[in-house]
Amino acid sequence: MGNYDDQYEVKTLNYKSLDGFSEKQISFHHDVHYAGYVKKRNEVHSKLKTTDKAAANANYSEFRALKKEETFNASGQLLHELYFQMFGGDGKYSADMELIKKINEDFGSFDNFKQDMMATAKAARGWALLTIDPTDNKLRVFLADAHNDGAVWGSIPILALDVYEHAFYVDYGPDKAKYLEPFFKNLDWKKLNERYLKFKDVYKR
Ligand code: FE
Repeated sequence: MGNYDDQYEVKTLNYKSLDGFSEKQISFHHDVHYAGYVKKRNEVHSKLKTTDKAAANANYSEFRALKKEETFNASGQLLHELYFQMFGGDGKYSADMELIKKINEDFGSFDNFKQDMMATAKAARGWALLTIDPTDNKLRVFLADAHNDGAVWGSIPILALDVYEHAFYVDYGPDKAKYLEPFFKNLDWKKLNERYLKFKDVYKR
């Protein structure tokens, strides 16, 4: 019925490996994990078309179970597309980029932001997200333990740092901290800045 007919496609990557990310790491992460969220979201949609809505129940029902996993997989899809899109650069940025100016304004300095992002990454079980906070239109780093757990309504993720073990275990084993510098080194700040420009005035007062 209606929009449960929608099915999504796995977006392809225009790179196979990155500086500090092996081909195996990227392909497991992209082709298995990310693609898995897209496939499962599609499967959930297909099942929701025929699941008995009259039996919906908050203790347990098939409809409830599917609706719970719908947001898990949809958020997994969206965050991974953001994650993979923002690579391909050399980690360098320029001070005149609007996003960098805003980072300096809201965090005091780029280093302060990076420190907050890295500490959040170490503390998180899922994601560290640089977002636009709808409360005051400021950039803020939020922590999510799962794709759909820890989100703040209306916040717009600009930079998504995946800290699920699947994001780094092939290359770095249990050393999560070692994965963070390569993450920053491969960022394309031109693309990040473009994304920020698209959303920067959404919550402007
Ligand atoms: Fe991931």
